[in-house]
Amino acid sequence: MPELPEVETVRRGLQPVMEGARFTKVEAHRGDLRWPLPKDFVARLQGRKVEGLGRRAKYLLADLSSGEVLVMHLGMSGSFRVVRSRGESTPGGYYHERSKQAAHDHVVFHMSSGARIAFNDPRRFGMMKLVQRAELEREPLLRQLGPEPLGNEFDAAMLARACKGKKTSLKAALSDQRIVAGLGNIYVCEALNRARLSPRRRASTIATKAGLPNERAQALVDAIKAVLKEAIEAGGSSLRDHRRTDGELGDFQHNFRVYDREGKPCPTPGCRGTIRRVVQTGRSTFFCPVCQK
Ligand SMILES: [Zn+2]
Repeated sequence: MPELPEVETVRRGLQPVMEGARFTKVEAHRGDLRWPLPKDFVARLQGRKVEGLGRRAKYLLADLSSGEVLVMHLGMSGSFRVVRSRGESTPGGYYHERSKQAAHDHVVFHMSSGARIAFNDPRRFGMMKLVQRAELEREPLLRQLGPEPLGNEFDAAMLARACKGKKTSLKAALSDQRIVAGLGNIYVCEALNRARLSPRRRASTIATKAGLPNERAQALVDAIKAVLKEAIEAGGSSLRDHRRTDGELGDFQHNFRVYDREGKPCPTPGCRGTIRRVVQTGRSTFFCPVCQK
């Protein structure tokens, strides 16, 4: 499942070829993604201009000249391949390699920018939906989402309020999209290691009884923002199938401190701990039991 940095990287890759451009032709090869494509999908896009390409959590939001918003999610295995006269690219670094088989190009956008954008999704958990802009706030997919972790609304006070009295683990609380939107397994593990907090610690312990933030809440918020910013700058979590123009693999996964590093030494300066893997709510958690308390 791509996480926020990958989706933001995808958004930045698509922005130059989509924003301000019209859909000159839309091909819908398979309508059965996670859900069926919207009724009259092709007709509702063709000829429309993309006025802006935004993001909310892991959803890409293309504002259309028709007053509708094209909501897109990459699902488990989705990616966009941009084909231009001077070559092709797959924006967004992914931890798992992305398919390039044309058989999995379920939707293809031909843009007036000259680019062809293919949505490729072998497992078909991705989705596309059209929503009236005026109704976006009431959209069920988005309505329940907590604040954006990189936005001003997400701070220690807000996080402490949300965790007040919570008996669940910090890992579970941070993975809860209603508390903070767009964080997944990788960046929750990474942020907790940076903040030196155990993923198994009770969520309520980052707040006072009155729900005010303590030092842990501040450390956690700082760590979350820092790790997401670094990953976005690095172009998503990994670029395994996408070499940079200098031939180097520009992947953030080389910078993972704990994720997928079971048995390796903890990178915290002065710490002699070894990264452990445990399973919490069905997902692997990686952490250092020595410096993360
Ligand atoms: Zn450690």
